[in-house]
Amino acid sequence: MTVREQLQQIRRELAPAGVKLVAVSKAQPLATIREAYDAGQRAFGESRPQALRERVAQLPDDVEWHFIGHLQTNKVKLVVGPAHTIHSGDSLPLLRALNDEAGRRQHRQRCLLQVHIAREPTKFGFLPDALRRLSAEGFFTTLPYLQIAGLMGMATFTDDLTQIRSEFRSLRRLFDEMKQQAFSDHSAFSELSMGMSNDYGVAVEEGSTMVRIGTLLFTH
Ligand SMILES: *Cc1c(COP(=O)(O)O)cnc(C)c1O
Repeated sequence: MTVREQLQQIRRELAPAGVKLVAVSKAQPLATIREAYDAGQRAFGESRPQALRERVAQLPDDVEWHFIGHLQTNKVKLVVGPAHTIHSGDSLPLLRALNDEAGRRQHRQRCLLQVHIAREPTKFGFLPDALRRLSAEGFFTTLPYLQIAGLMGMATFTDDLTQIRSEFRSLRRLFDEMKQQAFSDHSAFSELSMGMSNDYGVAVEEGSTMVRIGTLLFTH
């Protein structure tokens, strides 16, 4: 299948639930990204700050760039501003650094909180209980230059769909809980970024609003 055909098929699957597709273009050649752009795709995901900067310069201004990779605090300058949404707000020092950089630019940066839901020890993110505690303490009101727009999570890399489903479901529950409590006055807190090539079907069934798909779209 061509990139265009893959895009059309995935979009058809996502449309009934109104789920947004972020095409993960990391590691793709420019020509392939252009093919997706020409087929109407506008939201793209990159995972390295320097690559994001290069892509922003290479593609038209109407592309919406999503930063999805782990971000070191000394790289926030490269991402705040050009990124429409940063999916990987995964630690307190990073959130503070993003808020400070956005403040210096007088820019309100859209950002998601990354939650550690997988069993693998290597993935980044807040533990659910840490987010509950920070919410209760009112921590998120101390970041005026960040628009915290929801949660992001990655399930364990496994074929066990039952496990994947239960991880996504726990993220959805945490999202609902935070939306009712700490973010009850924030209509912007509305996104649940979950689902990749191998598990997006389950993620959509469990309430995802945004899926991040690379391999399935670009590799054939
Ligand atoms: C690479 C990546 C994706 C896309 O993964 P695929 O399996 O290629 O669809 C999604 N989210 C994050 C955070 C990634 O790093």
